[in-house]
Amino acid sequence: MDTDVLVVGAGPTGLMLANQLGRRGIRTMIIDRHAGPSLQTRALGVQARTLEIYSHLGIVERALDLGKRSTGANLWTQGRPAARVPLGDIGRELSPYPFILILGQDDNERLLGEALRNWGLSVQWNTELVGLTQEADHVIATLKQSDGMLREITVAWVAGCDGAHSAVRELNRIAFQGAPYEHVFFVADTQMTGPMVRDELNVYLWRQGFHLFFPMRGTDHWRIVGIVPPELREKKELTFDDVVPSMREQAGTGLSFQKCTWFSKYRIHHRRAAHFRDRRCFLLGDAAHIHSPVGAQGMNTGLQDAYNLAWKLALVVSGRSSETLLDSYADERMPVAERLLKTTDRAFSVVVSDRWLAGFFRTRVLAKLLAFAMRIERIQKLAFRTVSQIGIQYRDGPLAETLDGLPRTAPRAGDRFPWLRLTLVPSGPVEDLFKKLDDTRFNLIMIGQPLPEGVARLDPVLAMYAIPNDDVNDRELKRAHILQPSFYLLRPDGHVGLAGVRYDASAAIGYVSERLRIAKRT
Ligand SMILES: Cc1cc2nc3c(=O)[nH]c(=O)nc-3n(C[C@H](O)[C@H](O)[C@H](O)COP(=O)(O)OP(=O)(O)OC[C@H]3O[C@@H](n4cnc5c(N)ncnc54)[C@H](O)[C@@H]3O)c2cc1C
Repeated sequence: MDTDVLVVGAGPTGLMLANQLGRRGIRTMIIDRHAGPSLQTRALGVQARTLEIYSHLGIVERALDLGKRSTGANLWTQGRPAARVPLGDIGRELSPYPFILILGQDDNERLLGEALRNWGLSVQWNTELVGLTQEADHVIATLKQSDGMLREITVAWVAGCDGAHSAVRELNRIAFQGAPYEHVFFVADTQMTGPMVRDELNVYLWRQGFHLFFPMRGTDHWRIVGIVPPELREKKELTFDDVVPSMREQAGTGLSFQKCTWFSKYRIHHRRAAHFRDRRCFLLGDAAHIHSPVGAQGMNTGLQDAYNLAWKLALVVSGRSSETLLDSYADERMPVAERLLKTTDRAFSVVVSDRWLAGFFRTRVLAKLLAFAMRIERIQKLAFRTVSQIGIQYRDGPLAETLDGLPRTAPRAGDRFPWLRLTLVPSGPVEDLFKKLDDTRFNLIMIGQPLPEGVARLDPVLAMYAIPNDDVNDRELKRAHILQPSFYLLRPDGHVGLAGVRYDASAAIGYVSERLRIAKRT
């Protein structure tokens, strides 16, 4: 076997997967058909859940230094200021990173690419996957190298992180179901001045559509996203200058453009792969699902796909778990992709529809409604949970088991375990639980009860924490609706696997052998 996992594609998804496999000691090869890292910013919004994962990977501080925390969105209608939606720290108490970080995809890829070195890995550029043959216990992958020569390698598993035109998907003949949207979009990185509120997102809504102005690093540096006017849709060599008149018309004449460093037009599709796994091949990120950029979810969803699959692949490759565990990747991530496609589709229809009623809603109602709703704390928190991806749960998945007795309001199996600040010794220092948790292991959290001897079969990959009764803990647990006593067995990705009131050793053993498929070591 040349390697255990071949990661095809060194975009954000592939880089995250290679990092997560590398730090778990799994033999990994990562290839990309391009000559080097992409210099395009593309995605801009980094969500809280991604930052939590970056924290375990040791790159969160650099991401925070490089990025800008979004503090608010300013909505303009017909060229006039209409409302401001506060966005800064709306997820207080829910995540150590209660905001959206504005940081370009190129910067994210650079940080993830540099982190690969910690595990002795690097991307093999100029290397394209052109053929695949799946056998019962291995895959033969044909790679085209920079000199044009073909090389065959034998690998145990293939992860298709190779974007919307995925070769892994096409070579496995997996359908990519969906359709393109009718509208054509443009994206431009510019140096410009205008009435936009500095350092904040500015959204210009007008009867036929919208323009978004994202603040970027540097002075007067803005990313603009908009709809190409219908009369220019079919124009072959569309340039930035072509779309400037429509922008001036809608966003006002006060815009002054100094420079445009990147301009691209693109058609957005909404599509999902019919399967996320075919025997020894997996699809992740844009290879598995693409949707409109509403809500800045695309890149973040790919990163979460990788985080979900990595710990499972590591258990299987290291011989601890049976291959059946890998089915849970699609069982858990496909519903997430489906929900995302539906919600972004609905939101997108509102912001792009040409219908009179939609235009009226966009310019007369939407801004005020959003500004009003986001002043209500409950709505703020709901919006944050949804957009930040901390609300993603796998309650109906095959790895979730909630034992009887937990109240409905308590965190349940499948949920991301909430962020808590607790003391681990009575009257001791208050610590950030997320910083304590080891995401290369399972974590057993015992609340108001002593630690057990261990959990059979999990012990080498298990860390345990006892949360004592203490005033600080009482308050924090109550806030998160966590019962005392209770126990939570967390998977390495921070989602609850098994949850219950009093620790039950036989339920834990059953969970490990039947759900995690972890075999008894001989
Ligand atoms: C213009 C534009 C603007 C966008 N704006 C946003 C935004 O604001 N917010 C947001 O969340 N998302 C946005 N997106 C989407 C976001 O960029 C993607 O969701 C994200 O890049 C997905 O990452 P990925 O790693 O899955 O795929 P990709 O980034 O597409 O990476 C796939 C990689 O695979 C490589 N590859 C492909 N085929 C092969 C092969 N056969 N062999 C070897 N390597 C191969 C490619 O070279 C590429 O490097 C935007 C996309 C575009 C095009």
